[in-house]
Amino acid sequence: MALIADVCPHCRRMTRCQVTERTSVSGGIIMGIPIVIPHSSTTFGCGECGCEFQSETWNQHRSLSPAESVGLDLEQILSLTNPVLYERVMLERLRADARLEEVFVLLGKLRPSSLHSDLKRSLMNWSQLDEEQCIHFLTSTRRCTEAICFTEVMASRTKSGGVGCLGGILGSAGVWIGCIALFGTNVSLMGSLGILFAGLLTGTSISGLLWSARDRSWLQAVLLPEADREKICLGWLLQVLERSRLSEEAESKLASFREIAPAIRSHMAAEGKAIKEPEFHIRTTLASSNKA
Ligand SMILES: [Zn+2]
Repeated sequence: MALIADVCPHCRRMTRCQVTERTSVSGGIIMGIPIVIPHSSTTFGCGECGCEFQSETWNQHRSLSPAESVGLDLEQILSLTNPVLYERVMLERLRADARLEEVFVLLGKLRPSSLHSDLKRSLMNWSQLDEEQCIHFLTSTRRCTEAICFTEVMASRTKSGGVGCLGGILGSAGVWIGCIALFGTNVSLMGSLGILFAGLLTGTSISGLLWSARDRSWLQAVLLPEADREKICLGWLLQVLERSRLSEEAESKLASFREIAPAIRSHMAAEGKAIKEPEFHIRTTLASSNKA
């Protein structure tokens, strides 16, 4: 007899539920060949009212034997057997904490991404944080929110790549015209392909060079001074550019702006300034208690 924790749809209570697995077979004969199809279903019996139901959240993660569940409270059983519901319940409980209001705004703004997972993991640990860690977590989420707002504003101020595109097209055309002048129009198929490829390669290289030169000057003249003035943490700016995903509308504006992240890193490295990789969570208490 296995059990999980779930909310019964009949009595609406969170309880220990008994797992019932049923297997059956159906079959028939198709073109003289006997066919047997096995079926299995899992239902749960509510520990309070006895109602049998199918879980909306149990993802076959695992169930516990009665021996395994000895000494565990309902919340522990829920976290082990029904993590989707556990997360939902925990987040709902944390939402009532006024200190976490900005954190939930940020969580709602971020779409599934590694930064979103980091934030949710740290938020789920909130009740285990000491005061120093709480302050660090709240400060980090504020820095991250500021970096997102800054990113959105700056993305709308970036110029289009007209110069880079035009330079690329002129470069390609120059190579093609030069080749026609040198070899004439009577060129073999392989020769034509070679000229086409050389033209495209030249165009792409020129476009790339103009783009990176433009990025570098914009980075130094506009982005970094502006970030400094707005007191934006560069570490969080990079986390947002490299590890976040926002709404579709925001993403359409941010797509090309995200490409500036490597330029920020190489510029700071060239200046000899280290960028600290910020995290929502700190583990200083554990480290210091180990030292003690
Ligand atoms: Zn029930």
